[in-house]
This record gives sequence, C-alpha cells and structure tokens, in this order.
Amino acid sequence: MNIADIEGRIRKHLKGLVAYQPIEPVDVLAGRVAGGRVIKLDGNENPYGCSPRVREALASYTYHNIYPDPEQRELRKALGEYLRLSPQSIVAGSGSDELIDLVLRLFLEPGDRVINCVPTFGMYSFSTGVCGGEVVEVARADFVIDVDRVKRAVDARTKIIFVASPNNPSGNTTPQDQILEMAGIGPLVVVDEAYAEFSGTTTIPLVADHPNLIVLRTFSKWAGLAGLRVGYGIFPTQIAAHVMKIKPPYNVNSAAQVAVLESLKDLDHLRDRVKDIVAERERLFDRLGKVGFLRPIPSEANFILCSVEKGEARPIHGTLAGKGIFIRYFDTPLLENYLRISVGRPGDTDALIEALGEI
Ligand code: PMP
Repeated sequence: MNIADIEGRIRKHLKGLVAYQPIEPVDVLAGRVAGGRVIKLDGNENPYGCSPRVREALASYTYHNIYPDPEQRELRKALGEYLRLSPQSIVAGSGSDELIDLVLRLFLEPGDRVINCVPTFGMYSFSTGVCGGEVVEVARADFVIDVDRVKRAVDARTKIIFVASPNNPSGNTTPQDQILEMAGIGPLVVVDEAYAEFSGTTTIPLVADHPNLIVLRTFSKWAGLAGLRVGYGIFPTQIAAHVMKIKPPYNVNSAAQVAVLESLKDLDHLRDRVKDIVAERERLFDRLGKVGFLRPIPSEANFILCSVEKGEARPIHGTLAGKGIFIRYFDTPLLENYLRISVGRPGDTDALIEALGEI
C-alpha cells in the first residue's frame, strides 16, 4: 500500500461529494461590515432568541461534567406530554439535521433511491449522498408537489420520499391529502415540519396509523435554540426503536436537554413570539410587494421567498450585505433569480425595506 495515497483510500462515493453550503456565523458576517452591525435574515433563525427561562436554567446548570442520558428519558417524556404521544414514538437528535441523517442511515443500502421534491432543503440530497444513496429529483410546479410525478419516479429501489412542509425555501405547505397519497405509494415518507409552528398545520396525528410515515420537528426555529442543536422525530414505534439503537449515545447534549425542558414550561411566551413573527411575516410580505422589483411568494414559515422581477438577485444580495443586511440569494436552474428573506423584528423589516428602496 502506498502510504502517501490518502485520497485513494477515501470512499469513492464521498470523494466527489459536493459539500453542503452552510450560512456564515454572525461573528464572521460582523467582520465584513463597517461598524459590525449585522441584521441577520439568512438563516431562518428566531430574532427574539430563546425563552428567558432557558437562559436562567442554563446559567444555573452545574452538571457539565456528566454525560447526558443516552435514552433521553426525561426529554422524551416531556416531549410525549407536549405532543400527547408515547415517548416510545419519539427520538431527539442534534438538530433535525441529525435525524435526517439517522433515517437515511437506517434505511439506505448503497444505490437505493431517495425522492427529493425540488427546490427544497439541501440536507436531504447531501445526507443521501453521504449514505451512498441516489437522489431522484422530482420538480415541483410553482413550488407545489405533483404527486403523479412522484408516483412515476418511484421504483423498486426507492426507499424514502422527503417532503418539507412548510417547504424551505418556498414557504408553502403540502396538504394532508397529498401526504396521505404519497404514504400510500409504499416508500417511507418523511415530512419535515421544521417550520410547522409558523403554519399551524401538522401531520403528526397521522403517524400512529401509517407504518411508513415519519415527522421531523426542531427547536431551532420557533423556540430559538438553533445554536444548541436539538430536534426530534415522531416515528412508528418500531422505527423509533431502531433509530434509538443506531444513534450516537450522547447525541443531544445536556445544555440542549435543559433548554428543551425549560422551553416546554414556557410555551405561552414562545407562542406569543411565534405570533409576533407571523404578524411580521405578513407586514414584510406587504412591504416587499411594494418595493417594485420583487414578487414575494406567500409563506407559512418564518421566511419569504421573492422572485426578482427586475435586476439580478446576486448584486442585490451583495449590496444589502455591504450595508450589514444578510439574506440568501438563489441562482440555480430551479430557482433562477430569487431571494429568501427570514422574518426578523419590525426594525429589521424597516431597515431592509429602506435599503431595498435605495437600490
Ligand atoms: N429542515 C428544514 C426544512 C430546514 O430548513 C432546516 C434548517 N435550515 C432544518 C430542517 C434543520 O434544522 P435543525 O436546526 O433542527 O437541524
């Protein structure tokens, strides 16, 4: 063996894998802006932060030297009470990102197929690639899933269909009858409800009656815990047991567990913040529509996708970044000339609209 040939030893399917494109952390963004003042509307994060009770609980937490419970007993029990479900149907992860990966690891043999209803969240295709699976893209029409196209794309090697509802980046939900129709095809249907708290719709009650239906949720968005990395999945109990078995033992860290338990004791506060974000989303939608060169797409999430009708998304993104306002732009065949803007506080909307007005 040539001991210098490290590249040659990398697994073939990972060697050519395209890296996931994450957003930049806030301190890096601040370093690019004169004065360092950043308005961060690129990560669909919660502009109000976490519950104040979470901050207090973390400040007084003392067991940093002790491993968290690998069975997540307290966490799953609290989530079970919150969802009125058996804890045995729930597994928590280091963000819902980890649950996407765990589901794929559990079900995919190399060469198995995953249906991705594009444009959608990038982690489904990325994690499928990491697991050695093959992504089959089924294009949405005006961001709506065409179930007949999905049916036609399914074959004997298809294991999973991913459905983000609300979808990132388009913000629209997929109606329950469509989800049920897809669950009837045969492969597992993973409904990613990362933004469901902003839409008020959920597929969770259907999981109990469908052995191939999984719903993923997160505390990153509505509860403001993106930095602590905690999400959870609702699974048929048989699948949950396997996910528990293959997950890293201490996958949800102690701080994240404390934060979830405390968030669940402060639901009124967090739900008020969700209402504020939803109200601000509607105001932002209205203001974006009046900018003159943007066409906002109605959203049920905490962000708004806009088609750039005059001009180009990329330089608009650059001009805003120069002013310390960070949003996402898309310039791909499926999303040509679009911007995605997370809903911030009212002052963030005002600053954004003023900056857009100067373009
Ligand atoms: N699903 C969707 C649709 C998302 O947009 C995101 C966050 N960008 C995630 C999952 C991942 O969230 P988490 O922070 O829980 O890993």
